Amino acid sequence: MARYIGPVCKLCRREGTKLFLKGDRCLTPKCAVERRAYAPGGHGQRRRKPSEYAVQLREKQKARRIYGLLERQFKRHFSEAERRPGATGENLLQILEMRLDNIIYRLGLADSRAQARQLVRHGHFNLNGVKTNVPSCLLKPGDVVTLRESSRESEYFKGVAKDIARKSIPTWLSMDARTLSGRVQYMPVRAEIDMALSEQLIVEYYSR
Ligand code: SF4
Repeated sequence: MARYIGPVCKLCRREGTKLFLKGDRCLTPKCAVERRAYAPGGHGQRRRKPSEYAVQLREKQKARRIYGLLERQFKRHFSEAERRPGATGENLLQILEMRLDNIIYRLGLADSRAQARQLVRHGHFNLNGVKTNVPSCLLKPGDVVTLRESSRESEYFKGVAKDIARKSIPTWLSMDARTLSGRVQYMPVRAEIDMALSEQLIVEYYSR
C-alpha cells in the first residue's frame, strides 16, 4: 500500500499546527512548528483570509495527515462512513480510529501512527489469534490484538513492555500489559475521540 514518504514536519507546518507525527520528538523544542510557525515555501509567511473552500480543504488534509493516509484511502473511508447509518462525520472518525494501525498507536505499542503501521506491516501482531499485516484492517468491538510470541523477545517490545503501564489509553480500549494484548471494548462516540478536528468541515468538503 502506498504511503507518503516526504518530509513529515513540513505537513505540520503546512497545517499550522502540531499533528504529532514523530512520537517523542514532537514534545521537544526540536519540533519544527515550535521553531518556524509558518507554512513552508516562499509564500509561507503571507497572510490572507482563507476562502470557505480553503478552510474545508485544510481540515480534510489535516485529518488525512494525522492518520497518515493518501487521498484515495481517505476517500474510501469517507464513502464507507456515508454508507453507515448516523452522522457521516462521526462515522468517519470512528472508522479512522478503528484502523488496526491506529489501535496499535492508541494502545501505546508505537510512538506514532507511522511506526504502528510499520510494525503491523512487519507482521508483529495477531488479530483474534490470526497473524495479520494489513494496517487498514478495521476492527470492531470485541476484537483482540496480541503481540506475536516470536516478537516478544525483540529489544523494541521489551522496552515497550517496561513502559506500557505508564501509558494512558482511551476508555474504549483495554490492555493486558503482561501479554501486550489489547481489546476493543466498544465503539467510541465523538466525545471520546481525542481529536481536535471539525469533521463537519470534512463532510462539507466532500459534499461540494
Ligand atoms: Fe509535527 Fe512532530 Fe515534526 Fe513537530 S516534531 S512538526 S509535531 S511531526
